[in-house]
Amino acid sequence: MLAFDSVCRRFKDGTVAVKDVSLNIPQGEFCVLLGPSGAGKSTLMNMINGVVEPTSGKVHFDGEPITRSNLRQFQRHVGMIHQQLHLIPRLSVLHNVLSGLLPDKSLLRSLLKSFPKEDQLKAFELLNEVGLEQKHLMRRASELSGGQQQRVAIARAFVSSPKVVLADEPVASLDPAMSRSVLNSLKAAAKHHGATVVCTLHQLDYALEFADRIVALRAGEVFFDGSPAELDNQTQRAIYAFTQTEGQEKSELALEEVAA
Ligand code: ADP
Repeated sequence: MLAFDSVCRRFKDGTVAVKDVSLNIPQGEFCVLLGPSGAGKSTLMNMINGVVEPTSGKVHFDGEPITRSNLRQFQRHVGMIHQQLHLIPRLSVLHNVLSGLLPDKSLLRSLLKSFPKEDQLKAFELLNEVGLEQKHLMRRASELSGGQQQRVAIARAFVSSPKVVLADEPVASLDPAMSRSVLNSLKAAAKHHGATVVCTLHQLDYALEFADRIVALRAGEVFFDGSPAELDNQTQRAIYAFTQTEGQEKSELALEEVAA
């Protein structure tokens, strides 16, 4: 469904964020990208929605290479969930969800646009599905708790029936109980709608609990690719032993440990 074919990304300042990554992500998979800050998770994810272009290699969507000229056609099939939510605080919960149907999500357009009944019904159903009670529908998004707002963001990401949902650190600002509940809702919605999810997480334990597949990056390269059951303790430690600020030495020690 999604295929990265030897993709690399070098930024103008010379930083090589992604190095020769090849991955196939089938339809319906819940794929978690793990790795320390700076490992290249966001850069890789942003190649799927065209925010970042590979400097070499190709990303394929349903068998077709994503190019500048056909990017918009693919973007219609991608839903986004951000760490900072990007909800429109003054708009109602319902309108925030419906704004996921607009290519241009400006406040004015969201306010002026009247949505057909079927779209409104779909938004109701999605909000119900992610566990937000009906009484919240007309409340302003800014009046909700962090967990409730993240549920609105999930419903918004699914309202356009996307084939792929990209979730960038979706639970970074939530407490553990709320994080699990929100990840449960995200996973259930993805399964129900048959969507592929690519999700970056910092928390290894959530990755182990929710992922169908974990791809761990280390300095822009795939360091581990497999199911949570295949990710043994030593490899888990090695993923986080490397950070750009701590330097490579520590990581190499951990890698030697894995190899031994
Ligand atoms: P992660 O999401 O794993 O934290 P990123 O993909 O954000 O990692 O970043 C990978 C590397 O690329 C880091 O060294 C980061 O500083 C660098 N980087 C990301 N975006 C840019 C950019 N626009 N210009 C230059 N360097 C960048």
